[in-house]
Amino acid sequence: MRLILIGPPGVGKGTQAALLESRLGVKPLSSGVIFRAEIEAETDLGRLAKRYIEHGELVPNGVTIEMMAKRIRRDEVRKHGFVLDGFPRTIRQAEALEEILDEMGMPLDKVVSIEVDDEVVLSRLAGRIGCTKCGEIYHSVNKPPKREGICDKCNSPLFVRTDDQPETILERLRVFRENTAPVRDYYREKGLLQVVDGRHEPEEVYQEIVAGVEA
Ligand SMILES: [Zn+2]
Repeated sequence: MRLILIGPPGVGKGTQAALLESRLGVKPLSSGVIFRAEIEAETDLGRLAKRYIEHGELVPNGVTIEMMAKRIRRDEVRKHGFVLDGFPRTIRQAEALEEILDEMGMPLDKVVSIEVDDEVVLSRLAGRIGCTKCGEIYHSVNKPPKREGICDKCNSPLFVRTDDQPETILERLRVFRENTAPVRDYYREKGLLQVVDGRHEPEEVYQEIVAGVEA
């Protein structure tokens, strides 16, 4: 199964990627996690990306594409498929992805857009706590860590993200919609877009995604 998940932060993309991995073996490829791993491993690409991030600039298309391509070409991804999150973010990236997948003879199955109203996202994001090291996200009510303030996965300290303030969240949603609209339209024109209602329970969303791919 080869998917792209599109959706604002807090819509449950991570949950869906985890379900797809545990049940179907599909490899989750989150751009954020991959960036952090490259930066931490101090690869050439990681060092390059870090320089832009430290200056508060967007990592350019070329660097982003190379980092993602490296992962997509791995044998395990070839074998089990992938679910992309956070990539592609621009038409240029979407076109590059298409070239990579064409080369590999592995076309995309679907582009799933999980959509919800702003209020739903607000209520989910308030209370989020993130891991400084591995990027795992917890929630004070819905998904608390086993030990307060400590990551279950890697034992690193957790932090409340400053960008999880309501005004910041609304601004991020606006920017998200503005930025993803062209990519969403690009895939709609290609007949690959599947829109899923993000208010549904995770299990229901999962079933809709799988049914969409099999259709
Ligand atoms: Zn962690």
